[in-house]
Amino acid sequence: MADTGIPLTRDAALRRLDAFLPAAAGAYARLRNKENGQGGHVHVSQLSAALRRRLVSEREVVDAVLERHGLVPAEKFVSEVFWRTYWKGWLEQRPSLWEDYGKALDRAQVRLETLNDVRKRYAAAVEGRTGIDCFDAWADELEQTGYLHNWARMQFASIWIFTLGLPWELGAALMFDRLIDADPASNTLSWRWVAGLHTAGKAYLADAERIRSMTDGRFAPKDLARTARIPADTLDVPQPTPIRQMRAPDPSAATLLLLTTEDLSVERIDQIRALPVKVIAALEGRNDWDRIALADGLARASEVWPEAAITQDLSTTALPDTAKSSGCTQIATAFLPVGPVASSIAPLQAEFAQRGIVLTEYLRDWDRSSWPYCRKGFFGLKEKIPALLQASL
Ligand SMILES: Cc1cc2nc3c(=O)[nH]c(=O)nc-3n(C[C@H](O)[C@H](O)[C@H](O)COP(=O)(O)OP(=O)(O)OC[C@H]3O[C@@H](n4cnc5c(N)ncnc54)[C@H](O)[C@@H]3O)c2cc1C
Repeated sequence: MADTGIPLTRDAALRRLDAFLPAAAGAYARLRNKENGQGGHVHVSQLSAALRRRLVSEREVVDAVLERHGLVPAEKFVSEVFWRTYWKGWLEQRPSLWEDYGKALDRAQVRLETLNDVRKRYAAAVEGRTGIDCFDAWADELEQTGYLHNWARMQFASIWIFTLGLPWELGAALMFDRLIDADPASNTLSWRWVAGLHTAGKAYLADAERIRSMTDGRFAPKDLARTARIPADTLDVPQPTPIRQMRAPDPSAATLLLLTTEDLSVERIDQIRALPVKVIAALEGRNDWDRIALADGLARASEVWPEAAITQDLSTTALPDTAKSSGCTQIATAFLPVGPVASSIAPLQAEFAQRGIVLTEYLRDWDRSSWPYCRKGFFGLKEKIPALLQASL
């Protein structure tokens, strides 16, 4: 794992935020799409790995930017942060889409085993040897650093789908595996958006001349697809369903505080701070980046509850036993949005009930107030941003 300097602890994220603040308004609006390649991402914040794990919250980042610049000058940056919120809220209200993606991915992987030409194109794409200069460079950068500039991610996904003719699900899975900020909602839904499945029929087609100009002539890709073929049978978008109801933590119950990569600054939330925490358990992460962030979250939480027992690298299946053996009747954690962590914990509900343990989740006000506007297109949320920021979230 290369050290990319991308913040993975709260202190590092706050330092990065501080350093980025002067550029968060005009410079960001003008230059954020400039793709300077590995080591040159100076016009964007690179806070995504920290925001994704909520080492810092969206509220903290946006508040700092607003305090410095005000909403109108910093509108572009603030609305990018709300894109994250939008994808989370949109997926939360269509959870079946995550399962469907998983099944489609399984099918695509089986096809890889049986179809020689697809397997060859896939291997060339993964290993960065397609002969398309920009794509191969971005594949290398992704592998080496875990990060790609947003604009490069868009071109990469578009070339993957429309020029290389590979299933979008395989590309999404590759990025989810390699990105330092891998997020089930932002990643899967961005791939769907590029593929033309989000705004039905509207795909994102990478353009060779635009790539050349946006990268200051570093790349001159040849033979890119000129049309986007969207498979008609995949255009059905499920209707939104109500946001999952969860039990809020009981301030009088002996508590196991569960830390996951979904939110690693829960100890700052008043309702969580009020809990009688006997055990702090950090669920095992997917990779070393997660482990760094989880260790940081655990260290901060244990300052708030110095008497609490600590468990690191807990596997999901060990959760009921760990709670029971320490006399906890409640597990408290941040809201578990659609994704692998929620999917790994959901099957334990019956065992929790059997053993007298209640799983409770805390939904941050930021999500609670924004998600109802994430049912359709981004504009529905965007137009509410000033009101959402004014209301005491
Ligand atoms: C195909 C594809 C896959 C992506 N996968 C992920 C992913 O797994 N995880 C992830 O966090 N982002 C993902 N994004 C969104 C975006 O590329 C990254 O959030 C952004 O590049 C992170 O860099 P930054 O922190 O410097 O962004 P900045 O430009 O500094 O933006 C500030 C913050 O706003 C949020 N943000 C900015 N742009 C977007 C966007 N388009 N969608 C959602 N949130 C945004 C991020 O939290 C980011 O940290 C993906 C985009 C595409 C096109």
